[in-house]
Amino acid sequence: MKAAVVPAMNSSWQIEDVPQPQPGPSQMLVKMRASGICYTDVHETLGHIPGQFPRILGHEPVGEIVVVAPDVTKRRVGDRVGTAWIQSTCGRCEWCQRGRRMFCPYLKGTGLDAQGGHAEYMLMNADATYLIPDKVGYEQAAPIFCAGYTVYSGLRWAPNRMSAWPYSGSVGSGTWQCNTPRRQASRPWQFRTPPIKTR
Ligand SMILES: [Zn+2]
Ligand SMILES: [Zn+2]
Repeated sequence: MKAAVVPAMNSSWQIEDVPQPQPGPSQMLVKMRASGICYTDVHETLGHIPGQFPRILGHEPVGEIVVVAPDVTKRRVGDRVGTAWIQSTCGRCEWCQRGRRMFCPYLKGTGLDAQGGHAEYMLMNADATYLIPDKVGYEQAAPIFCAGYTVYSGLRWAPNRMSAWPYSGSVGSGTWQCNTPRRQASRPWQFRTPPIKTR
């Protein structure tokens, strides 16, 4: 399959032929229909977020399932799905026990520890996927799995919803686009990011 590979830190992306992955237990092979580009892709390419190279980035991937592992029961071939930043966590550490999986030290991230969506196919863990309604186009759905999901998470975890707004970055597209990658970049180090005001 063809994929956009980042060969090394701070290098240009290269379109290369790479082996098509085969699903292991709990996984599915998904034919990519859209893969959003995020500024976190730039941070990852420049090495601002630690990770191995060569790497296939892309953490806003959506597509159609073409193969499911025998043990996967909640998804079927033909389902339209997307996956977000977290592919898997340990399920045992304090953060996982608290329901804050994003801080798990064993987190495997999409396009970080697991191959991302800038390719013809990618593997997704079935438990990390969400069904996309038929009336939502793939191009519309893709950014929801990063920017939209991040905003939703901020609102969901905030002590009260009003206090979440400055941190959700959802008021105005400019604020959204600035705050989302900042929060994502800060997440591995558990920094808290202040709001960017666009007005
Ligand atoms: Zn993103
Ligand atoms: Zn954990």
